[in-house]
Amino acid sequence: MRLLIIEDEEKTVTALEQGFREAGYEVASARRGDEGLVLARSGDFDLVVLDIMLPRRDGWDILAELRRSGVRVPVICLTARDSVEDRVRGLELGADDYVVKPFAFAELLARARTALRRGGPEGAVVRVADLEVDFLRQRASRQGRPLELTGREFALLGLLARRRGDPLERREIAAQVWGMPRDSDSNVIDVAIRRLRGKVDDPFDRHLIHTVRGVGYVLEDRP
Ligand code: CA
Repeated sequence: MRLLIIEDEEKTVTALEQGFREAGYEVASARRGDEGLVLARSGDFDLVVLDIMLPRRDGWDILAELRRSGVRVPVICLTARDSVEDRVRGLELGADDYVVKPFAFAELLARARTALRRGGPEGAVVRVADLEVDFLRQRASRQGRPLELTGREFALLGLLARRRGDPLERREIAAQVWGMPRDSDSNVIDVAIRRLRGKVDDPFDRHLIHTVRGVGYVLEDRP
């Protein structure tokens, strides 16, 4: 599941990015309203966490603009304001939910899951051979047997599964799953892939995660 955070408070962004990544989501973020609107419109995200007080364009404006242009991605508004009027306004503009700061991350995570479930099962399950990756439940299985994956392992497998057949560069994996700068040391990726293979491939005859020399990795069913 791909999640977009539009929020200008650095501390909050960092905490949310880390929390959602550990829970197995791929996360991108924007600090400014105008930048956030462009990303939210791209269709690349399954859920948007939207702060209301933002520089350039505020959250109300972004939400109204998204819905006006027919973008139906679930949106959870995040704000310090706590008045009934604001809640009503957010919901009228097409927000799916509303979380008031300060909040516990667990609460936001629970609401994110609910909003994603409501968003429907479209594209929620990816199958490659006997591997099944269920993005809504954040679970994966092979031959119907559940794989015991950490949140980060699930995010890594999820990225490979969504882009199945498409070789991914280490740097891109690092950026998407770890939020690391694209030029950082990518050794951590190789270690993570080795661990993931130990769970996803090694116990089975048919291996699905392949090394693409000079590039990175690809998930596909090779004859
Ligand atoms: Ca703010």
